[in-house]
Amino acid sequence: MGEFPMKLDEQQLTGLLLLLAQTEEVELTCDECFARTAEYAEHELTGKTPHEALEKVRQHLAICPDCREEYLGLLNAIRSLVS
Ligand SMILES: [Zn+2]
Repeated sequence: MGEFPMKLDEQQLTGLLLLLAQTEEVELTCDECFARTAEYAEHELTGKTPHEALEKVRQHLAICPDCREEYLGLLNAIRSLVS
């Protein structure tokens, strides 16, 4: 009964959306992940500590079999070039 008390005006809504866009939990899309797999592979092969953007690649690879397969293929290709 009565009116819904939490009615957001447009400004509040925009602020909320901005907040959501900035949250750490945003996952990469496959395209974004793929754009960074080469960099990520280089870090892995050279033992460098991944920075934050690459940490998201790692998370995506953990949950996305398609990208993981692409990544492992790339890793093998680089390894065979190096060795
Ligand atoms: Zn993916």
